[in-house]
Amino acid sequence: MDTHTQRISGLLEKIRMENEKVGAFIEIYGEEALAKANALDAKATSGKKPGRLAGKIIAIKNNIAYRGKRLTCGSKMLANYLAPYDAAVVERVEAEDGIIIGSTNLDEFACGSDTTSSAIMRTRNPLDLDCVPGGSSGGSAASVAAGFADMALGSDTGGSIRCPAAFCGVVGMKPTYGLVSRYGLADMAMSLDQIGPLAKCVADVKLILSVIGGSDERDQTTASSPKSVDLGFEGKPSIAVAREFLEGADERIAGCFHSLVGKLKDDGYVISEISIPELRHAIPIYYLTVFAEFSSAMQKYDGLRYGKMDRELDSLVEGVSELRGDKFGLEVKRRILLGTFITTKEYQDAWYGKTLKARAVLKNAMESALSKHGLLLGPTMGVLPWKIGEKMTNPLEMYLTDMLTVPANLAGIPAGSVPFGKAGRFRPGMQVLGSRFSDAKVLALMEEIERLDR
Ligand code: GLN
Repeated sequence: MDTHTQRISGLLEKIRMENEKVGAFIEIYGEEALAKANALDAKATSGKKPGRLAGKIIAIKNNIAYRGKRLTCGSKMLANYLAPYDAAVVERVEAEDGIIIGSTNLDEFACGSDTTSSAIMRTRNPLDLDCVPGGSSGGSAASVAAGFADMALGSDTGGSIRCPAAFCGVVGMKPTYGLVSRYGLADMAMSLDQIGPLAKCVADVKLILSVIGGSDERDQTTASSPKSVDLGFEGKPSIAVAREFLEGADERIAGCFHSLVGKLKDDGYVISEISIPELRHAIPIYYLTVFAEFSSAMQKYDGLRYGKMDRELDSLVEGVSELRGDKFGLEVKRRILLGTFITTKEYQDAWYGKTLKARAVLKNAMESALSKHGLLLGPTMGVLPWKIGEKMTNPLEMYLTDMLTVPANLAGIPAGSVPFGKAGRFRPGMQVLGSRFSDAKVLALMEEIERLDR
């Protein structure tokens, strides 16, 4: 068997040859990964017990802090910013002997669904290099799909783990809000953001989630989460399909979905069809929430606290606004402006106040469906990966593609995507949703789907 060092050397060579084509990594941590592999080999010969992630190679989205390394968030604003500390998930991965191989590309500050808003580089879909990898964790999904890493970490505010997982044909999971510490994650919209894993198989997603999950006193939203996470199998759950999940879905994706439902039924699962009409309002509720929280999160990037003031300052206001004008991309600016507008005193009740109420209604509808039916099942994305450059001209069209992923974030519930069937070169993702902290149950059904796909 290869030593850890041999495997890492081989992998670094592969990445050197192929990453240029795929564009998964912003930075490759070759030296550190080799040093870690050496240390693991030494540990193995000395007979010490290896950690739970020993030998697993892990890529991390570049909005997750890794001490001393660039934390660009895909933006010119932070192009040379070095993370001053490790994110909680990085600490946990390293404590269990995971080898971090590099940081992956993303949409600027995680705003997008195809990774094309990154100011750093282009990422391509390893299944079809002319197509987008999905987003915003496109680099993470591509790194796994291309075989550069066993697992990757992403962040999911409205689908940014599940969308690229579905586009690149890998498994991805957004855990229950509060299961994984966000300490060290550059926030996009705090009430929605969650870090989670991507991998080739459900077993690996389970493994790394059991390492990174659990309460952390540095993130108060993890307070109600268990100290450590048990992801054992939980038996055969009942399942419901919401009619709205299939409205407007590409027929090749719908075809895969129907064949999955047929197979599950043959296997003895009881699947009922229901309707959750509130789902039709998920997109406006999600985007208004994101605009408001995002514009507030972006205030700290003023060149003084974060970002580098690279010009003479005659007037502070002009200097800051010029810098923000130069360093932020179009999508980020659009969201800051809209968010600032809807949270101004005059318009707060009309927009943001209503959004909060509507979010509560949607959340209740999801929770009550889940308490009655156990798990929800649908496609992850209603569309297949588009050609690079195709959707960016019309932001609304891109927003609409998030229709099936945003409800889980708005409700704070776990949702995972697992490939099933084939549509040309692609392997459409099927999404499983469960009630809060039923992550184990969600993963158990994902494992069943994976088995039925063979
Ligand atoms: N595509 C969604 C958006 O642009 C989701 C992004 C995310 O989950 N980070 O807001």
